[in-house]
Amino acid sequence: MRKVVTYPNDVLTTPTQAVTHIRQDTIELLDDMYDIMLEEDGIGLAANQLGESVKIAIVELDDESGLIEMINPVILEEFGKEINVEGCLSFPDVYGTVERAETIKFWYVNREGVSTFDEASGYLARAIQHEIEHLNGGLFTDKIIDRLTPEELEAYMEDKEYD
Ligand SMILES: [Zn+2]
Repeated sequence: MRKVVTYPNDVLTTPTQAVTHIRQDTIELLDDMYDIMLEEDGIGLAANQLGESVKIAIVELDDESGLIEMINPVILEEFGKEINVEGCLSFPDVYGTVERAETIKFWYVNREGVSTFDEASGYLARAIQHEIEHLNGGLFTDKIIDRLTPEELEAYMEDKEYD
């Protein structure tokens, strides 16, 4: 059974490899990623967070957004800027505010191999940017503006329900 890799680990800071063929093991990895994300109560997960250095990430913010499974995702365009709080399953106790694009246009291949163009805004766009950053070997901790303690996080979340 795979499990979440926590910082520090080279797999988190190494750019991942593109997927050239969607095989049975790709599908199994996607299924595994979803199970582990739910188990860990996350809203997104990148394959290298499970020690698999391939360009696969998933995001499920809520029922409305649904599950987005992205193979070889790329951000095509960014609009606006927004600062909001983030956490990461690979940094269990770290929370902080990060500036991201407010709206993005992005592209990926889905599990059926279908090329997909999509657009996202707000916290969904944030989660997608966070996961694609992982696939590029980046970490949100390098972008934190203000780090929050668990108490500050609670106050922040009460204050500012994400939209
Ligand atoms: Zn993360």
